[in-house]
Amino acid sequence: MQTRTIDGNAIARELRVGLSKRAASVSAGGVRPGLAMIRVGDHPASSVYLRNKINACAEVGIHSQDIQLADATDESTLLGQIRILNDEPRIHGILVQLPLPRGFSPERVSEAISPLKDVDGFHPTNVGLLAVGHPRFVPCTPLGVMKLLEHEGIDPEGRHAVVVGRSNIVGKPMALLLLQKGATVTICNSKTPDLGSMTREAEILVVAAGKPKLVTAAMVKPGATVIDVGINRLPDGKLVGDVDYAGVLGTAGRVTPVPGGVGPMTIAMLLENTIASAERVARSNR
Ligand code: NAP
Repeated sequence: MQTRTIDGNAIARELRVGLSKRAASVSAGGVRPGLAMIRVGDHPASSVYLRNKINACAEVGIHSQDIQLADATDESTLLGQIRILNDEPRIHGILVQLPLPRGFSPERVSEAISPLKDVDGFHPTNVGLLAVGHPRFVPCTPLGVMKLLEHEGIDPEGRHAVVVGRSNIVGKPMALLLLQKGATVTICNSKTPDLGSMTREAEILVVAAGKPKLVTAAMVKPGATVIDVGINRLPDGKLVGDVDYAGVLGTAGRVTPVPGGVGPMTIAMLLENTIASAERVARSNR
């Protein structure tokens, strides 16, 4: 079987063209979309991701603010900074770069962000809205996966989707989105006894475990669409996903590469959520 590689870079590029138009239109109405990104301490990996996000914002016409807090910052200083941004009218999206230093509570930090500016979709109010089927902000990575499927013309309705991973950031919202589109969804976790027996049932397989090459060709149903969310850095510095990409070629119908698959879509969805937030503000100003 000929496996099609899904080019996330190309799809994200295409999406950014539409996003630029929306950003220009809402800006022309007096609301320029603004995104604030806060990081605590200096992590080289986070800095690379941040630079990519800042460049992507600039490309589509989003005003971005990079707030770097010192390593020694305590949680109350971070929460104070979030409160300032919650009240800042030029900012429509706030994100706090993870991971946070030891001693910080990711839950308290997520809950401090106004649910109306929570472009990561981690605030319990937004998690609840997604769960009841009226999403406001959807976490960027699973939203990006849904856009990839849509772009590829894959309708989840009536299909069996298997999600490997149950994190709040990826696995759980991913499963909810697929369920809402009418898929029959199985969610696997590290305690799932025979992972392959589950993944082989999948017509759509989304893997978000953070384990290099966890999914091999023998675990993939012939013709399945395989979406690899994982990003793992090997000791030699190479980035790989959770799927044995070379191994599944010839078995999967479609597969996303790492890098260049889901990653660029995550950033595109951050832009999308920020612009949608600014559009909501513009509508409420009318
Ligand atoms: P996480 O919080 O560590 O969650 C990993 C999940 O995978 C957990 O639910 C865990 O199960 C499950 N798991 C681990 N080993 C497993 C196994 N052998 N069999 C079945 N399930 C297993 O990670 P995350 O934040 O969801 O991220 C997952 C991966 O995606 C990471 O590599 C991360 O870097 C990447 N990621 C990529 C993007 C992107 O833009 N491309 C965005 C976010 C994350 P338990 O709950 O039982 O422990």
